[in-house]
Amino acid sequence: MRFASFIHDGQARIGVVEGEQVAVLPPALGDLRDVIAGGDAALQAVAAAQRGGKLPRLALERLRLLPPMQRLRRDVLCVGWNYWDHFDEGRGKREGQDVPRPQAPTFFTKSPGTVIGPRDDIAFDARVSAKWDYEAELALVIGSDGRSIRADSAMRHVWGYCLANDISQRDLQRRHGGQWLKGKSIDGTMPLGPFLVTADELDPGAVRLQCLVNGELMQDAAVAQMAFPIPELIAELSFGMTLRAGDLVITGTPAGVGNAREPQVFLRAGDTVTVRGTGLGELVNRLVDTDLYQQSSVPSMAAEHTGGAHAGQL
Ligand code: MG
Repeated sequence: MRFASFIHDGQARIGVVEGEQVAVLPPALGDLRDVIAGGDAALQAVAAAQRGGKLPRLALERLRLLPPMQRLRRDVLCVGWNYWDHFDEGRGKREGQDVPRPQAPTFFTKSPGTVIGPRDDIAFDARVSAKWDYEAELALVIGSDGRSIRADSAMRHVWGYCLANDISQRDLQRRHGGQWLKGKSIDGTMPLGPFLVTADELDPGAVRLQCLVNGELMQDAAVAQMAFPIPELIAELSFGMTLRAGDLVITGTPAGVGNAREPQVFLRAGDTVTVRGTGLGELVNRLVDTDLYQQSSVPSMAAEHTGGAHAGQL
């Protein structure tokens, strides 16, 4: 099944995508986090409601889609450097943070406050960062709790898949002591969706990921190229640390990010970024000037980089 979250009659609702339409599920089923937490019984209730034939059907193209997951219980769990061509393209461009190829997956987290819908505007403020970058990623949602999950049973813990754009601020990523949290957690900057596709409907190994900026192809890779495949990611991430139903995991980005290009390419207000994945649809989001800086006493990052960082080639 393909699930969507959207606004209907002023309320956040969920539904099942049927071609160009969405069957709107009864509010009693809750949101997608409730459906996921409800396990097989919840999915059977959804199927029964759909079979009943009395659900209102709405045209998909007219709906304001919300991110499929809106209430996260904790930070988004993230994988870095999970495509070797992306790891290698960044060599010498990490401002003193270069390391050898990792032997185990690289993990970090980002704030749930980053999550926005698949067509929403991405908040942009040049004063907060001079180095806005894009990262097309396959996202997965955990369907059942588990600690120290074995790789050979890990796929049973995956409830479904969607797309994410892990918009990053490379200067903030480097500026705060070698961690990535800050440069990955700016409010309203991570498009998610457009749908949540249940694991039985998607072979992640067959997904081709693409990212376009203003229509120009910047990233184009097969998810099968992952350095650490999904079972290994889940085994390592859950090692001694419980993963919970509803946890969101983004699995890393392939080569082609703006920071690694020569010359570098950074996003600006007005740019449109599209992330596509086979069987998953696409995210289309525009960067729009937003007052993220507000009354900050931190010096503007734009001032720090005047005249250099914003490449003009896009
Ligand atoms: Mg990323």
